[in-house]
Amino acid sequence: MTTPQILETKTAECRTHGTYTDELIESFSGDHFWQGCKRCQFDAAHSNDEMIRKAALTTRHQRTMNAGLLASDIPLRFRAATLDNYRVGSHPEGQGAALSECRKYVDEFEANWDAGRSMMLLGSVGTGKSHLACAIAQQVIRSFGASARYTMAIEIIRDIKMTFDKKSEQTERDVYASLLKPDLLVIDEVGVQHGSDFERQVLFEVIDSRYRQLMPTIVISNLGLAGLRKCLGDRAVDRLTDAGGPAVLFTWASARGEA
Ligand SMILES: [Zn+2]
Repeated sequence: MTTPQILETKTAECRTHGTYTDELIESFSGDHFWQGCKRCQFDAAHSNDEMIRKAALTTRHQRTMNAGLLASDIPLRFRAATLDNYRVGSHPEGQGAALSECRKYVDEFEANWDAGRSMMLLGSVGTGKSHLACAIAQQVIRSFGASARYTMAIEIIRDIKMTFDKKSEQTERDVYASLLKPDLLVIDEVGVQHGSDFERQVLFEVIDSRYRQLMPTIVISNLGLAGLRKCLGDRAVDRLTDAGGPAVLFTWASARGEA
C-alpha cells in the first residue's frame, strides 16, 4: 500500500509519550485529519479494554481504507461517484441495465477476481461510463479490501514513452509491473488516440499480462465492440471477454447538458 499523502506537519505534545511530529493526512472524501500520536494508537490497538481496542481497530481500518482509496488514483471528479448515485432517468431502460450489470460485477467480485473476469463499458460520450467504473473500483476497495486503480490509456502510453528517455528512473518493465499490481485495473478512454500500432501493442501487453495472471481489467471506450476490435485488435478483446466478461453497451445519447 502506498503511504498516505501528508499535507502538513506540526510539532505536537502527547501527555504520555511526549513530543512528536503530527501529520495532516489527505482524506479521499475531503475531510483531512491529523494523524495524532501513533504510540497512543498502537497502545490502544493492543489494550486489554475491549472498547478501547475496538475503537482503535476501527480507526485503523478507516485509515487503511482511506490510503487504499487514495492509491486508486480515482480523479476528484469521480470520488463521490457511487452505484447508488448513478442517475437513471432520461433513458431508464439502457441506464438501468448498465447499472445492474455493474452492480452484479461488484456483488460477484470475488468470483470475478478468481476467474480473472474483465468487463468493457462501451458507448457514447457522457453516458456515465467513467462514473460507474469509478464506483465499481471504490466499492471493491470498500467491500472486499481489494486494491484498485484508475488510469487512462493516454497515461499508460505516456508513461511507457517516458521510459525511452535515458534519464528516466523507471524502466518499461516497471511501468508494466505497476499496472499488474492492483486487483482491479480500470483503463478509461481507450481508442481516443486513433490507435497507432505502438499504442495497440502497449495496451495489448497490459491487458494480456493481466489476463495471464487472472487479474480483471475494466476497459472503457467511446467505440462500439467492432470499433474496439479494430483499435485494440481481436486478441485483446478476446482476453477481455474470456470467462464471460461482459460488454456493457451505453447506446443512448449523452446525459451531459440535460437537466
Ligand atoms: Zn501518545
